[in-house]
Amino acid sequence: CGIVAYIGDKQAYPILIKGLQRLEYRGYDSSGVALLSNNEIHLYKKQGKVVELENFANGKDVSGSVGIGHTRWATHGAPNDKNAHPHYSGSNKLAIIHNGIIENYASLKAEMISRGHVFESDTDTEVLIHLIEDIQEKTNVDLEEAVRIALNEVIGAYAIVIMSKENPDLLIAAKKSSPLVIGLGEKDEFFIASDATPIVEYTRNVVYLNDEEIAIMQRGEDLRLLNIKNQQKTPYIQELEMQ
Ligand code: GLU
Repeated sequence: CGIVAYIGDKQAYPILIKGLQRLEYRGYDSSGVALLSNNEIHLYKKQGKVVELENFANGKDVSGSVGIGHTRWATHGAPNDKNAHPHYSGSNKLAIIHNGIIENYASLKAEMISRGHVFESDTDTEVLIHLIEDIQEKTNVDLEEAVRIALNEVIGAYAIVIMSKENPDLLIAAKKSSPLVIGLGEKDEFFIASDATPIVEYTRNVVYLNDEEIAIMQRGEDLRLLNIKNQQKTPYIQELEMQ
């Protein structure tokens, strides 16, 4: 339903919470965040309102300048804590947030279970992050390439953001049929969201992803785009109008 993510110099948590509040108008049944600090992913998620997530995370480690946040509108799996996003990959090395529906999740999940994967939720989303990790382990490609290969196997709609504890200076996003916008902040700073409302107060320079595009946001580098056929794309930077 709602996506917000951040990588930069600032603390991510307050940006994510504020962004999730701005997305509340869309309606949702649960919310969650994952933050990366000291090579660990800290993941907090809760059924109910964003304030319930805040209460749950209160007093816990919410430090980190890389983070992803989500408000969920359940399509696959009941609205409860375990089905809320973000979702881990099996090894907890990766975490994902996802808007949309992976239509062929059942066959992918069956294949993954036969290969020893254990799932914690009933969502279609968790299947995608297991698939990405599975591809990485099987073929030894980097995360960017594993995401690209996985998205070629997916039927359905997605806007996703992925973080990796082995790549603490990287966020990867992609979309098809669900919107995703990237705000370019100060140097080395990216805001990602399902619509511009969480971004406008930080920057007016945005790039709307096209279908089947993957965005690589690496600290110290410019935004890089490629599509799932592995063609490099030039980011088209637009200026948001003042409201
Ligand atoms: N299909 C996913 C789920 O049910 C994502 C739903 C959404 O867009 O919030 O968890």
